[in-house]
Amino acid sequence: IIILGIETSCDETSAAVLADGTDLRSHVISSQISTHQKYGGVVPEIASREHSMHFRPVVQQALDEAQVTFQDLSAIAVTYGPGLVGSLLVGVSGAKAMAYASKIPLIGINHLEAHIYANFIQQKDLQFPLLALLVSGGHTHLILFEGHGKYEVLGYTRDDAAGEALDKVARTLGLGYPGGPQIQRVSQEGNPQAFKFPRAMLEADSLDFSFSGMKSAVLNTLNSARMRGEVLSVPDIAASFQEAVVDVLVRKTLMAIKRTGVKTLLLAGGVAANKLLRETLEMSLLKLGIRLVYPEPIYCTDNGAMIATAGYYHYLVGDFAPWTLNAVPGLSFPRLNN
Ligand code: ATP
Ligand code: MG
Ligand code: FE
Repeated sequence: IIILGIETSCDETSAAVLADGTDLRSHVISSQISTHQKYGGVVPEIASREHSMHFRPVVQQALDEAQVTFQDLSAIAVTYGPGLVGSLLVGVSGAKAMAYASKIPLIGINHLEAHIYANFIQQKDLQFPLLALLVSGGHTHLILFEGHGKYEVLGYTRDDAAGEALDKVARTLGLGYPGGPQIQRVSQEGNPQAFKFPRAMLEADSLDFSFSGMKSAVLNTLNSARMRGEVLSVPDIAASFQEAVVDVLVRKTLMAIKRTGVKTLLLAGGVAANKLLRETLEMSLLKLGIRLVYPEPIYCTDNGAMIATAGYYHYLVGDFAPWTLNAVPGLSFPRLNN
């Protein structure tokens, strides 16, 4: 079974060829970060134009490196949401055209589900039930993953996503885009105890998150210092904020582990690349005898390999998309559907 996976939901044009669910034959990522950097964030119009330009060459390179042609493929899997509509449309239309012309099935992939499946690229022995902490640029979810295609959303953010909050604070600190990696970098020289930013825990039993108040606390601290004519240490602010975000993520995750009794935690999404988050979870979980699994950083942020991997499991159960598949920018995480 050979799956071509395609991802174009935001600012990465990516394609990968995966054989039999475990053998990644090629993986090409064309990132637009340098294009969007000067605007401080992704500009949707520019993103879709860039996808249109890079789509066909990226797919061809993935096929060439895997030494396959369209005739060798079992199916084409493509992200159809959530994401930017113009960006998604490039991938969906392209994948549809290629699959139809090659007379092979098309598979529509939910980008969030694929972030979780990034864990299956390198781990072949994951035992259900699994708990997933999905922390990305647009989402922060705790998900009970009971089997392929069987999910229960236990909690999610009521306002900003963790990555979004990191990006916004980084922008205010003048650290550039994307902010998460910059916060991580400058935090190394900062004191995480320098500022006591609030930890929003919400109701005692809630597995939901809220990061916008924490973000505002940072902005207020900066503003009042500015009015006093004081200059605060950027590394200290960054380190203290990173610490606060990780603290909340870890505490809620531990609550979810206790409640569900799962033995394995999967990290997923761009913020899963964060070193402090990984190390803090690793330490707390070791004591509890819980296994922590996370993808290599390249598979945490947007990539085609995770789409191909999710596509493989859809292929196994014959879950194919109709030729009318369309981009769904606001696609939510699949609810329990067994
Ligand atoms: P979504 O998947 O929710 O639709 P997205 O695709 O834009 O959103 P991802 O590509 O999964 O999100 O992740 C991007 C986010 O990850 C950004 O907010 C970025 O700042 C953050 N990020 C990347 N690396 C790190 C890191 N090392 N530490 C913290 N955050 C990071
Ligand atoms: Mg991106
Ligand atoms: Fe993503």
